[in-house]
Amino acid sequence: MQQALHRSSLVPRGFVVESAYYEGDKAIVVVRASGSVGLCPSCGTVSRSVHRRYRRRVTDLPLSGRIVQLLVIARRFRCGAVLCGRQIFTERFAEGVLAPSARRTASLDSIVHHLGLALGGRPAAGFAKRLMLPVSKDTLLRVVRRRSRRPTDPLKVIGVDDWAWRRNHRYASIICNLERRRVVTLLPDREPATAQAWLSAHPTIAIVARDRGGGYGEAAAKALPHAVQVADRWDLMENASRTFLDAVRKSMRQIRTVIGATTINPKLLTAAERLQYEGYLRREETNAAILALSKNGIPIKQIVRQTGHSRKLIRQVVRGECHDVFRTRQSSLDLHLPWLDEQWASGCRNGAELWRRLTGLGFRGSLRVISEWATRRRRAERADTKLAEDSVGQDDRAPHDNRAGLPHESGDRHGRGDRSWRANLGRGTRDHCRIPHDDPPQDRGGSHDVDRARPR
Ligand SMILES: [Zn+2]
Repeated sequence: MQQALHRSSLVPRGFVVESAYYEGDKAIVVVRASGSVGLCPSCGTVSRSVHRRYRRRVTDLPLSGRIVQLLVIARRFRCGAVLCGRQIFTERFAEGVLAPSARRTASLDSIVHHLGLALGGRPAAGFAKRLMLPVSKDTLLRVVRRRSRRPTDPLKVIGVDDWAWRRNHRYASIICNLERRRVVTLLPDREPATAQAWLSAHPTIAIVARDRGGGYGEAAAKALPHAVQVADRWDLMENASRTFLDAVRKSMRQIRTVIGATTINPKLLTAAERLQYEGYLRREETNAAILALSKNGIPIKQIVRQTGHSRKLIRQVVRGECHDVFRTRQSSLDLHLPWLDEQWASGCRNGAELWRRLTGLGFRGSLRVISEWATRRRRAERADTKLAEDSVGQDDRAPHDNRAGLPHESGDRHGRGDRSWRANLGRGTRDHCRIPHDDPPQDRGGSHDVDRARPR
């Protein structure tokens, strides 16, 4: 028995076909919902009052080797319920036909999901293209993820740490499932009591990774006395690297002597660095005096009385915990130094121009930072040239000219503090700026072991 094929049987149920046409290689089918009323999603009231109509483009299953797009003429209804907070709502379609805001019909979405599951992102995208289902590899993965069920197995291993809503202003606590690598929840603050209450409600937790502060530890100990507490990896790394830097800082003088980067040229410093350098020279004098006293066997207590410096400072100096020439500080420029070097090498040497371009790349520092960098670069190059001219015929310079015991590269990519020794380590012993000091700081007190060990 034959049965007539209705146009509306070619589109998902609940739609009526208005018209159809080809647009390039696509078949466009204009449809509208067959029903005349809308159901408010907030209160469930039936509405017949249409606010306006709009069009949605939705991809459907292919037909005769063509991509099919439904042009849905959808409606917005007014909700007439007095107590409903929603005044206007968009038309909803039957479950399993078209989800709100979806770009694909439910039947197409289901096929996309299965393709993604079976083949993964990229291969499934290639295969889908042959099947006339235009979806990208990212969409495939997104559909798989969206449809995956949330795991419901009990929490066992969690990490808890501070989390900033707004840095330096408002903090919360974040709790992560370390087995699934997922955020479990955010607690509204970082009070131990809040964390304790949450942890108490999750007795299945067996391991808590946390920072090394006491707050979360105390909360975990009270809420989950059976759970093992471990230091979290980030904190361990942070502590290890800080300890390493401290150790290096204490041995800076030896390191510089070994790598031969031992001359500083005050002419190449920025104004701020020069201030730091002058301060350093003053500190060195003090340190030398303190060390001389200490070497003579005078106890710390008496040195305090004699010099008027604090007990803390004297203990630091005697233990060799003094700080380096330049303060170690992350510069806003650090990230962009390779780019700047490249630009400099290719001939762009105008500070303002460099700043403008760098701002376009996301740099948020001021023009001054860049122009200072450019000035320093220029000075360094000039000094290099001058040095090259001077050194012709003067190659047999006396070794003690190279003696100040301080770091600084004239090229100053890694301007200050411990960054300069890193750079120097990388570069070997090339010494750019051998302009001698009349009175190098180490020679004033002359009491450091390393200074004595150095050949004169
Ligand atoms: Zn309503």
